[in-house]
Amino acid sequence: MADLVDLRSDTLTRPTEAMRLAMSRAEVGDDVYGEDPTVRRLEEKVAELFGHPAALFTPTGSMANVLAVRSLVAPGQEVLCESSAHIARAELGAHAVYNQVTMRTWTHPRGGVDLPAVQQLFAPDMGPFFVPTAAVSVENTHNFAGGTVTPLEGLRALRAWADSVGAAVHVDGARIWNAHVATGTSLRDYGAVADVMAVCLSKGLGAPVGSLLMGSTDAVAEARVWRKRMGGGMRQVGILAAAGLHALDHHVERLAQDHAHARLLAEACGVDPAGVDTNIVVVDHDDAAGFVTAAAAEGVRVSAVGPRTVRLVTHLDVSPADVERAATVLARL
Ligand SMILES: *Cc1c(COP(=O)(O)O)cnc(C)c1O
Repeated sequence: MADLVDLRSDTLTRPTEAMRLAMSRAEVGDDVYGEDPTVRRLEEKVAELFGHPAALFTPTGSMANVLAVRSLVAPGQEVLCESSAHIARAELGAHAVYNQVTMRTWTHPRGGVDLPAVQQLFAPDMGPFFVPTAAVSVENTHNFAGGTVTPLEGLRALRAWADSVGAAVHVDGARIWNAHVATGTSLRDYGAVADVMAVCLSKGLGAPVGSLLMGSTDAVAEARVWRKRMGGGMRQVGILAAAGLHALDHHVERLAQDHAHARLLAEACGVDPAGVDTNIVVVDHDDAAGFVTAAAAEGVRVSAVGPRTVRLVTHLDVSPADVERAATVLARL
């Protein structure tokens, strides 16, 4: 059988030879002492890209999100988010366990901002019986809604309203790079709507590990302390930061290819490609688990994310030939 085409996730990418070479040559030091020059370079570069004063390298996006929400929401307060947000569904309750915060949610079919709903939920000071709202969290692109882009106008409207009422804004930008490439909106424009933002290097960018959180100098300094407290202080981690720097230099613009591949797969599966913003395709199927098994038997791995929902994700390790083969198999099924 030909090689497997693995469309389960864009986290499955393996570092390229060029990335491994960059990693092997990285200048390193003890990052807990603030002495790893490659980590510092990555943190400065990412902060600069998004127009934030400071950034912090973390092992995972989940940790970046936990530290980000912690910086905005005190124990006993709440954060508002979309009902299928990664912070609500996919971080195993980390925000309850570590941050001691609660969440209330709005629902949006494309995972976007429903400002009137946010305004209705927002309750910063309703007296001694109600949880005070401290922040609103937005995900861009939205993973479980199918890699959808949250339009900049909606984000700016949220930012303007949040400023007017004193709410903080967290952006989970695990795949903000995909939104940037799909829309041409600058990373700075996306950065400007967030008080604190998290981004991943280990998804479509193809680094083996690594995320960053960015925000004010104070927020990042405090997050640095909490990262260590949570066991996330890393030593000669410039080896990994070098992979991230390499990814930023070589793997951002190429995301456009993943997006084109996703539209091809959508078409093959009878999904309107116009609804596919980036690299994730959500396919409705009566028997998602059966579809996953049948596709795997033909060398195409996809995942079931609901009893009737299949997810396909394109990435760096999926070639044009792989997409062609997967499209043939999936269309037949
Ligand atoms: C992947 C992802 C994260 C972080 O996940 P980790 O596996 O902890 O790196 C955060 N938010 C979204 C939307 C994601 O897709």
